[in-house]
Amino acid sequence: MREKISKSVREVGKSIIREMSIRASAYDNVISLGIGEPDFDTPEEVCNAALQDALKGFTHYTPSRGYEDLIAALLDYIEASRGLRLNPEQLTITHGGMGALTAVLKAILDPGDEVILLEPHFPAYRAQVAFCGGRTVPVPTSFEDGFVVDPPRVEKAITSHTKALLINSPNNPTGSVIPTNVLDELARLAVENDLFVISDEVYDRLVFDGTHESIYTRPGMRERTVVINSFSKAFSMTGWRIGYCYGPEWLIDEVVKVATFFNSCPNSVGQRAALSALRMKQTVFDEMAAEYEARCQLVYERLEAMPGIKVHPSQGSFYLFPNVEEIMEDATRFALELLDREQVVVIPGEAFGSSGKGCVRISCTVNQAQLSEAMDRFERFVRSCS
Ligand code: PMP
Repeated sequence: MREKISKSVREVGKSIIREMSIRASAYDNVISLGIGEPDFDTPEEVCNAALQDALKGFTHYTPSRGYEDLIAALLDYIEASRGLRLNPEQLTITHGGMGALTAVLKAILDPGDEVILLEPHFPAYRAQVAFCGGRTVPVPTSFEDGFVVDPPRVEKAITSHTKALLINSPNNPTGSVIPTNVLDELARLAVENDLFVISDEVYDRLVFDGTHESIYTRPGMRERTVVINSFSKAFSMTGWRIGYCYGPEWLIDEVVKVATFFNSCPNSVGQRAALSALRMKQTVFDEMAAEYEARCQLVYERLEAMPGIKVHPSQGSFYLFPNVEEIMEDATRFALELLDREQVVVIPGEAFGSSGKGCVRISCTVNQAQLSEAMDRFERFVRSCS
């Protein structure tokens, strides 16, 4: 019977990130820089509001698109933060950013359609495209280029089967941000070749230098772009499973159709929590973002001083993606031995596509004291290898 499992499902490997966590559970005194999950709990005010709302009866199915008041609050939030005024019909609440990605990909892909993915990338993209019958076409970036894509390489990857370009800035796993001129070029290519663009902006509040920029604002992009976003990272709300996406009304209508048949509706209490997060004073979330920046800087300074380690500063998100090749050519072995000898979890770069080879992802999602301790252990390991 086993061979009857869907080919696309069989071919997708298990999540290396989750596998590393399982391995780590066999050790004591582990510091995990593995999972990309904020360490801050959801603020108490948000939890209390959601609890009260649950007691008031917000425990039923919700409208497919999500509660109207949450959509209205999000439209105001997007206007205040991005200067964009959207219609309610252009946006839908989803089951996390993941739910938005699934529904968008399912809405646009026919079997055999190609999706261009800039590599390294969040591993779920590859699996999701495959589950929708699509083909991923990776366009690599490299450590030397600061993990910024060269638009002519994207142009070369476009074929008559290309349906969409999927971008993610700030980037998981590299911490790079796509510069203004590259966004302009990618937008031009999308318009010229009549492509959809899926712009995953879940780390938009965690940009360390300047403000977040979106491809959505470029000429000709509103009719072809879906922006994916989420409460998970910026609001420390991973477990509530609330995300959203916006784009052209006709496309969001189809996304809602898919999401309705897959999920019925987004989580009721999660939406109430998200509404309360938007209504509360934003300083607590700004402080979290500032803390991630301080942590990334701490790790950058420590890594930069280590012999044989090459590293770029993180420009956004909470990740760094140092190259460890001079210490050990195989970064997966590096990650496994680091765990074994020093009980520090990092993720081998290959989990994010083959251009992640030679690098490891460090997630700055523990406090600065623990990060310093993790860097002491990392350094001891590095020095012991050379
Ligand atoms: N996109 C990226 C780039 C991510 O890193 C993540 C979470 N790791 C997501 C989307 C999905 O986030 P969620 O479903 O929790 O909103």
